[in-house]
Amino acid sequence: MGKVKKKVKTIKIDVDKCNGCRACEVICSAFHASPKYSSNNPARSRIRLIRDPMRDVFIPVYAGELAPAECMGRDKYVIDGKEYDECGFCRASCSSRDVFKEPDSGLPLKCDMCESDPPLSEPMCVQWCLNNALIYEEREEEVEETEKLDEMEVGLEALANKYGLQKVMDTVARMSKKD
Ligand code: SF4
Ligand code: SF4
Repeated sequence: MGKVKKKVKTIKIDVDKCNGCRACEVICSAFHASPKYSSNNPARSRIRLIRDPMRDVFIPVYAGELAPAECMGRDKYVIDGKEYDECGFCRASCSSRDVFKEPDSGLPLKCDMCESDPPLSEPMCVQWCLNNALIYEEREEEVEETEKLDEMEVGLEALANKYGLQKVMDTVARMSKKD
């Protein structure tokens, strides 16, 4: 595989501007509901707030990759005298906690930058953050071409890791016979 141009999309998080309003969680879950906007449930959001108003802690964290196995240890940050929760900044969907998992199925959630057709000018969480704590930026980079997994493949991989590939295949075969 050769080099290809890749659009890199980033959301810069200005933690000091976040007031913990959770509008980003609400709109992310509504935008990804099926049908779109038919429901909202922050537990289905691909951005979650680490929130402790008594200590003035508000950190938006984006859902990243699935971690098939739990880490051997935990990390804990202290920044400017503020201590954050264990694994507070981690973006992984992991078996040690409930965040970044679809609540009904347990499948991992991952931020997809609100990919849609036609494309949005800016991701929904950025548009809804009235405090400008989330700032969207785009740039182009030249990278090695790699095979990209779509959302369904990521979900199937998670099921295969959890139950074994054979059980997933048996279940799909059984379901297809019902039709
Ligand atoms: S960019 Fe889109 S998918 Fe990602 S957290 Fe924001 S609203 Fe959700
Ligand atoms: S919408 Fe903005 S200010 Fe509100 S919780 Fe999300 S990041 Fe923080």
